[in-house]
Amino acid sequence: MESNEKPNLHLDGIGVTSRRARERLVNSLAKKGIKSGEVLDVMRATPRHIFVDEAFSHLSYEDRALNIGYRQTISQPYVVARMTEAVLAAGPLRRVLEIGTGCGYQTAIIAPLAEEVHSIERIKPLHDRAVANLRLLGLDNVHLLHGDGSLGYAEQSPYDAIIVTAAPLGVPKELLAQLAPNGRLAIPVGGEAGQELRLITRVKDQFVNRMLEHVRFVPLLKGRVRN
Ligand code: SAH
Repeated sequence: MESNEKPNLHLDGIGVTSRRARERLVNSLAKKGIKSGEVLDVMRATPRHIFVDEAFSHLSYEDRALNIGYRQTISQPYVVARMTEAVLAAGPLRRVLEIGTGCGYQTAIIAPLAEEVHSIERIKPLHDRAVANLRLLGLDNVHLLHGDGSLGYAEQSPYDAIIVTAAPLGVPKELLAQLAPNGRLAIPVGGEAGQELRLITRVKDQFVNRMLEHVRFVPLLKGRVRN
């Protein structure tokens, strides 16, 4: 049994995984152009080291993607902040869909900024890991699903924001159909050599396209993986 008096060292972190390391990361994100105070505050408050494999924990607060096994990665903090800021700019978020939960870092960043988040992951062991990570953080407005999200998740639509954290070769039209009025879709589009991060906003039945950055995500793949 854990004593209530002891600080939770795993959550708070020590040394390079400390608050100070997080503060440095947040400063570097601000320098790179992240302006939203809300987004920076959540990044400052969220322990990224709990999402990272022990072998890489000393790199948790570097602004880079890291391997999480199963040939997948935890996204680069700057890209997480950029996508979150982009979808948040339209106003308060009621319902959000994320496609590609991975270990759950992006989910943890958007969850405090939305009423309700649904996130889908196709690889079962990663889904299980995300469930444990988000439980540790006490985020109770998150619904995680094990499944193929390449066509979105129509059951809970429409969404004020859809964040896709794996890259398709083109924008699936099903995702556009699942956007609420003024809803926003942040999606990397392109092959494995690199993609453009697009922000697509629904204005009535038109879709306004903006290109945000060059990025590099793992590919969006079909089907579920059980183990
Ligand atoms: N959001 C994560 C990024 C994880 S990497 C973070 O914040 O770090 C992208 C994830 O997308 C991988 O775990 C991969 O398995 C998952 N993925 C790829 N195609 C998918 C699909 N069709 N449906 C659901 N998840 C998918």
